[in-house]
Amino acid sequence: MKLITLGTAHGNPTYCRNCTSTLLQFDHDLYLVDAGGPPLATLTKLRMTPPMNPEYRLRGVFITHAHNDHIGGLPDVLKHCVKYPQKPAVFIPDAAAVEPLCTWVSTMSAAFPKSGIVPQVTHEGNLYRDEHIAVRAIRTAHMDWSYAYEFTYDGGSEGREGRLLITGDLRADLADFPVLTGHYTAIMVETTHYTIKTENLARMREILLHADTEQVIFAHVYDLWHGDGEQTLLDYFAALPYKKSVAHDGDVYSL
Ligand SMILES: [Zn+2]
Ligand SMILES: [Zn+2]
Repeated sequence: MKLITLGTAHGNPTYCRNCTSTLLQFDHDLYLVDAGGPPLATLTKLRMTPPMNPEYRLRGVFITHAHNDHIGGLPDVLKHCVKYPQKPAVFIPDAAAVEPLCTWVSTMSAAFPKSGIVPQVTHEGNLYRDEHIAVRAIRTAHMDWSYAYEFTYDGGSEGREGRLLITGDLRADLADFPVLTGHYTAIMVETTHYTIKTENLARMREILLHADTEQVIFAHVYDLWHGDGEQTLLDYFAALPYKKSVAHDGDVYSL
């Protein structure tokens, strides 16, 4: 499985990062975790969208919460799935967002209601399963309806099984950090609500010190951790006994 960071900024795009969107790729089958920034344009630049690359298909979209930097690009993606038929499973945390979303996409594309794409409301627990992945949603407290997602997957043609946790946005005090269970191939954490001057980053380090994982990916990268700040963040987490990296737009992880 490949994880490609399409967008790694926080609530605003920055000089070098678009808003949050992460791609999970199993050969030609694609899954989006969040759809902030311009995910359709980015996927197209990666040559992973029809009509130019019709072998690719979007299988699922998992939105962590309805803040704009995580969902703002979704109408564009869904409209494209109507125009070049694909029928992804779409999960939206906030029930109140589903009808406006469908209205918006229908306004842009009159064929949307007949497309077979039916956004569903995320619920806690086992959420989705197909031949590649099983997805579990874990409620967080970033806003009224927000979730982390845990992906258990086969390895596609690369043949490696694994387990990935994407925390989504969390409370600044990390009281809602998902309970870690067992071994992870990778944990992707957000880094926007933490500074070295507060105790929150120390809490994050404490949690991650006890994580059974092969690597941590610092995403949703706050301005402080851009440029030279990247090394500051990595130095702060130097004690973690596994691989760690700060994600940039377009990074590719083989997991
Ligand atoms: Zn965010
Ligand atoms: Zn948020």
